[in-house]
Amino acid sequence: MNVHDSEKIAGVLAREGYCSTCDPRKADIIIYNTCSIREKAEQKFYSELGRVKSLKRKRPDLKIAVAGCIAQQQGRGVFRRAPHVDLVFGPQNIHLLNDLLRGGSQAVADEDNPLIADMDLPVVRKPGGRAWVSIMYGCNNFCSYCIVPYTRGRERSRPTENILKEISELGRDGYREVILLGQNVNSYKSDTDFAGLLRKINSVRWIERIRFVTSHPRDLSDGLASAFEELPKVCEHLHLPLQSGSSRILDLMNRGYTFDEYKEIVTKLRKKIKGLSFTTDIITGFPGETEEDHEDTLKALKKLEFDGIFAFKYSPRPGTVATLMDSKVDDAVASRRLTEILDLQDSITLKKNRSYEGTYQEILVEGPSESDSELLTGRTRTNKIVNFRGRDGQTGSFARVRIVEGRRHSLLGSLM
Ligand code: SAH
Ligand code: SF4
Repeated sequence: MNVHDSEKIAGVLAREGYCSTCDPRKADIIIYNTCSIREKAEQKFYSELGRVKSLKRKRPDLKIAVAGCIAQQQGRGVFRRAPHVDLVFGPQNIHLLNDLLRGGSQAVADEDNPLIADMDLPVVRKPGGRAWVSIMYGCNNFCSYCIVPYTRGRERSRPTENILKEISELGRDGYREVILLGQNVNSYKSDTDFAGLLRKINSVRWIERIRFVTSHPRDLSDGLASAFEELPKVCEHLHLPLQSGSSRILDLMNRGYTFDEYKEIVTKLRKKIKGLSFTTDIITGFPGETEEDHEDTLKALKKLEFDGIFAFKYSPRPGTVATLMDSKVDDAVASRRLTEILDLQDSITLKKNRSYEGTYQEILVEGPSESDSELLTGRTRTNKIVNFRGRDGQTGSFARVRIVEGRRHSLLGSLM
């Protein structure tokens, strides 16, 4: 979501004639688009911010801006910690950026923006065939650990017509895949519900693949499961955050489902959709998590065999309900549990990836591989990263590859 917000920030600035540079010394404006989902991201940001102080000293006309959820959460507080910052604006106020730049120093825009879903901001996207598209903003779920509802505000859905217009234009501009974005896309509600939206997008010309993040298990309706099954462009991958394998912890997290209910959703969808890949998020060390709860999470991973997970140590966020809970888990214990979770999942992911060996896959080519610039990289419909020796000019188009090796974080393919 932050990556896409950055594309909007670039879009708003491009309207005023700005373009981007990789060299901070050449920049007229440096913008940090921050994340505050965990404390670590916050610490990293402040140490980065310290580094541009000397640039600002040399060139006082250089503007330094802080965007994103830290900006929203701390507002003027950012100036107190970093007086060399010129402006602060939250994720709901990107549209105000040019006005802020023209205005006085130390400006702040951290208001709630109830009109956000009706504002279609310009977007500067990278080439590569796939495009992020916002379909809704904010979140009403208030999971007890999470800061998002406080920084991104209440849930608001974009009008269906505006989404379709943007996606039709993307198709005409050469994009082949859209990734629909929202904190809880299953509760999309405008002229249609989420299943209805998928049906409409499925008939947009030139768009061949549809993905979406993030789904919430509580709102995964039968209508959505059917849309998944029936619509050929919807890719066979679902990111469905579980958070914990213990129903007791899920309840404390205010997630609104038990482990058995979650398992039933996965079982049902796997039966309906052949080759569906599943990924999830796990938090370990939530207040009150016992060794038994942790064992339940390990058991859940073994039972459900996800294709991949993102696992995090619980990080207390200011103002959230979980910070008031007793029985904090010792950091060393949480670290050990995290390692156990990641080690177990690594072996499962490797097994899953090896099962692709010898298969033929259609991939959408995204550009040079990050790990080896000699190779190109792309994704299968199931969202597996495939690296392969390609040809010039393949970025943004489909390629057919044979998988020769399944590795821990990617697949190695050979072009057909
Ligand atoms: N809206 C999405 C997730 C958004 S945040 C959803 O509900 O699934 C992405 C992930 O960050 C979450 O799924 C959770 O696993 C993790 N996360 C959120 N708050 C956290 C916290 N305080 N500590 C550790 N991990 C957290
Ligand atoms: Fe945070 Fe829960 Fe909303 Fe996801 S659904 S953004 S975890 S409050």
